[in-house]
Amino acid sequence: ETADGGEIPDTIVVGTNAEFPPFEYVNDDGDVDGFDMAVMKEVGKKIGSDVEIKNMEFKSLIGSMESGNLDVIAAGMTVTKERERQVDFTDSYYTAKQYVIQKEGGSIKSADDLEGLTIAVQEGTTGDLLATDEIKDSNVKRFKKGVDAVMDLKKGGSDVVIIDANPAQEFVKANKGLELVKDLFDDESYAFAVQKGNTKLKDAINDALKEMKDDGTFDKLVKEYIGQ
Ligand code: GLN
Repeated sequence: ETADGGEIPDTIVVGTNAEFPPFEYVNDDGDVDGFDMAVMKEVGKKIGSDVEIKNMEFKSLIGSMESGNLDVIAAGMTVTKERERQVDFTDSYYTAKQYVIQKEGGSIKSADDLEGLTIAVQEGTTGDLLATDEIKDSNVKRFKKGVDAVMDLKKGGSDVVIIDANPAQEFVKANKGLELVKDLFDDESYAFAVQKGNTKLKDAINDALKEMKDDGTFDKLVKEYIGQ
C-alpha cells in the first residue's frame, strides 16, 4: 500500500495473462501483443515511461500486484467489489459480458438451462465466479487458459464454457463445431489496475486514456485489434 499517493515509475511494469485474445495474446513473433498492450504502450509514451510486460497466470495477477511486483494490471480485468478491496482501478475502458460457448446445436437458451451442468472456465475470472456462485448445482472445471477450457468442451469433458465475449468469439471462430449463446448475463467493465493508493499513476493513466480518446488513438486501436 502506498500511503503518499504513489509515484510514476521510469519503467511501468505491466502484468498480464497473454491467453485472452484480442486483448492479450502471444503473436507470431513470440511477443505479447493485443489491445491492452497497445493501449499501455501508448499510455507509456504519453506519460514518458517505458513499459515492461510480465506474462503470468491470470489468478496470480492481483497477488503479484499486492506484493509490489507490478505497477499496472492490463488483462481485460473486470472491475468487481472484491478486487476493489485489493487494487485501485482506472476509469473503465471497455464494456464486456460473459458468453456461453456450446457445441453447435446445443440446448442452452437461457441461464436456467445451465443448472447442474459441467462448466469449463478460466480459473479466477468473473466467468469462474459466475459459474461457481450463480449457476445452481454447477460442476465447475477450472483451467489456466481459456483455450484449454474450450478444448475440454470440444472433447466432451464439459457441457459448456463461460468466458468473456471477445475471446469467446475468437475461440469459436478458430474451432469448428462450436457456437455462442450471448446475452444471458450482465455487462461488465474492464479497467486497468494499479496498487492501492497509487493515485499518481492512476490519474496519469486516466489522463492518457482521455487524451487517446480525444485524439483518436484509442478508436484506432479498437479498430485494429477488436475490429469494431
Ligand atoms: N474479464 C474477466 C475477469 O476479469 C476475464 C479476464 C481474463 O481472463 N483475462 O475475470
